[in-house]
Amino acid sequence: MNAKQIIIFLGAPGSGKGALSRLCVSSFGWAQLSTGNLCRKHVAEGTELGKQIDFAMKSGTLVPDEVIIEIGTRWIDDEACKSESLILDGFPRTVVQARGVLDFLVKKYPYLRVVIIELRVPDHEIIERLSSRLICTDKSCQAVFSSRIENLMPKTQGICDLCSSVLFRREDDSSDVIRGRLATYHQHCGNLTAFYKNAGYVVHVIDGNRGSAEVFENFLRHVSD
Ligand code: AMP
Repeated sequence: MNAKQIIIFLGAPGSGKGALSRLCVSSFGWAQLSTGNLCRKHVAEGTELGKQIDFAMKSGTLVPDEVIIEIGTRWIDDEACKSESLILDGFPRTVVQARGVLDFLVKKYPYLRVVIIELRVPDHEIIERLSSRLICTDKSCQAVFSSRIENLMPKTQGICDLCSSVLFRREDDSSDVIRGRLATYHQHCGNLTAFYKNAGYVVHVIDGNRGSAEVFENFLRHVSD
């Protein structure tokens, strides 16, 4: 029986986890769990859960661990059977979440290969990326552009190069919220990597401050397709 490959992306908001995930999905058809996308969907659809997490989403604070573990593990139960490899993008973000999801995965899959990747990008670059970030409104595209960074600007202002949909700015990409999200990331990331190392996993650090092709190439050294 083949092992289930679980790829966990660690990294600050804006470090490129989403872009790298989308490259993996389009290249290999892997399944991607983005808890941020799932949370935004709940808020947009006005579900009961969406109403509960709306404030956390807008203010850039973390949604409670038990809620995220429930959302994440339910998604894995429903969707993960579709692919041999599963990407966890932005989940887990705390030690409680990491412990919860690993316990769940170990019970669910007898053969498990866990690959942990940390995308490292300096804070000043993260702030520049997020404060100029533009995202395609088409949910199946979600391409990312920048209003300021030269090689990431759309050819036509406000319009996606790939599918011609309108681009938008995320509400939590405002400068005060960005600083809070970054602080939250730093508050948890040391404990999280220490947890993985103590549990016997290797955390592979990749320089996320490179072009997407180079980041993808460096990432591929650590996974099996
Ligand atoms: P993201 O799209 O990954 O930047 O996530 C957007 C927002 O969703 C975060 O600022 C949190 O409010 C919430 N969120 C997403 N993933 C998690 C998680 N693993 N734990 C707690 N909150 C999360």
